[in-house]
Amino acid sequence: MIIKINDFENGIHEFELIEKVEKLELDNKFFDKVKCRIKMDKSFSQIVILCDITVLAHLICDRCAETFDGEINNDFLLTYLISGDEDKTSENDNVYFLKPDQDKIDITKDVKEFVNLSIPMKILCDDDCKGLCTKCGVNLNKGNCTCSHESIDPKWLPLMKLKDKLN
Ligand SMILES: [Zn+2]
Ligand SMILES: [Zn+2]
Repeated sequence: MIIKINDFENGIHEFELIEKVEKLELDNKFFDKVKCRIKMDKSFSQIVILCDITVLAHLICDRCAETFDGEINNDFLLTYLISGDEDKTSENDNVYFLKPDQDKIDITKDVKEFVNLSIPMKILCDDDCKGLCTKCGVNLNKGNCTCSHESIDPKWLPLMKLKDKLN
């Protein structure tokens, strides 16, 4: 995913870059294409790129364990400082140095990295996912089970256990 910076005047530019997930060699949970909405602010001394990525992925719900396909979004900012100092490297991962004669920027590595980071910690097929029955394991999104889900007052538990034993 290459941006030919010489094709752009100084100022703000918005455009889209699209790449197949196979080309980016992403994990096989991702499929179809990665779309990057780019907002680029170019000036004489620096280029700032805001990249908004959208990708489709095969996901597994943390609550009901069903697989589903979902869209994942993430955005990141890259800063390119134009410097005559050739060997300058930055401590900050998202800051790069560009030589004054450099005519293109390759954001492939960054896109790949941020796609991999974009999987949320908690994945839900739906915010209202009902999950699985803790007793019989039925997916409660698909139907009810016959288990009793009434909350039992803890003070009655010893008595319930005794009742089970007698049965
Ligand atoms: Zn679910
Ligand atoms: Zn149940």
